[in-house]
Amino acid sequence: MPVVSTKAILDRAFQERYGVAAFNVVNDLTMDAVLAAAEELRAPVIVQTSVKHLDITGVDVMYAMWVAMTKHVSVPVALHLDHCPDRALISECLATGWNSVLFDASKLSVEENTRQCVEVVEEARRYGAHVEGEIEGFKRTEEMTGDEAENVQSLETVVDFVRTTGVDVFAPAIGNAHGVYAGTPKLDAQRVTDIVEATGIPVALHGGTGMSAAQFSDLISRGCAKVNISTALKIAFMTSAEQYMQAHPAENDPSKLLPAQGAAVMDMAKHHIQLFGSAGRAWS
Ligand SMILES: [Zn+2]
Repeated sequence: MPVVSTKAILDRAFQERYGVAAFNVVNDLTMDAVLAAAEELRAPVIVQTSVKHLDITGVDVMYAMWVAMTKHVSVPVALHLDHCPDRALISECLATGWNSVLFDASKLSVEENTRQCVEVVEEARRYGAHVEGEIEGFKRTEEMTGDEAENVQSLETVVDFVRTTGVDVFAPAIGNAHGVYAGTPKLDAQRVTDIVEATGIPVALHGGTGMSAAQFSDLISRGCAKVNISTALKIAFMTSAEQYMQAHPAENDPSKLLPAQGAAVMDMAKHHIQLFGSAGRAWS
């Protein structure tokens, strides 16, 4: 402890049917807030980085922050690279110390995705790291048509992909999307059960922001051990800044604004950790 493998975190959650929140952090302040929330609630947590924010911050700087901030964390935590189609960036993150990666080749054919994912899993294993697989891709919420089942692969294709590649967690399309849903999304929860029963591995739930508490608990009970939260963190980060500046329009010292943003992100993280049932699940 504190940094453990992503698989160690997910396998426990999968077995005991709680969800581990995987938050996409955007900078030092949000990384610190997520870790502080997990520490306060004695919860395992996954910190995720997007390709976009690694481009802004840099792999080395992001990892240096991770090492410094997890030095005194006493709950199980892991660092994950979210949706990454770039094999060079995957290699760089694995070599640097990321605990897991999501190889996102959903724009390629399933066959080519599978072929490359086998290589990514092999590469990850050399570092004791783990891999999340995806073959369907996720829309943005604003692109949803109500017919999100159109790109879904057959269960047989999913099982074949999981068995051939050896991925540790699978991210299926179940009517979920990235962004802010217009209403509560219609989700194919049965598909999670079918995939879990057929593959025996945990499922990663994408597009978590905006799902109802009942949807979360149902999906988690079916085997969604990893629950991604990105948009809610961004909203907390941005709206807390907006609210602070509206309340203090003459303020020009960031040291006053930043703690307000950190507190908002921490509250958001605590809310989701509690909702997913992972509070108090830290082990030693
Ligand atoms: Zn996603």
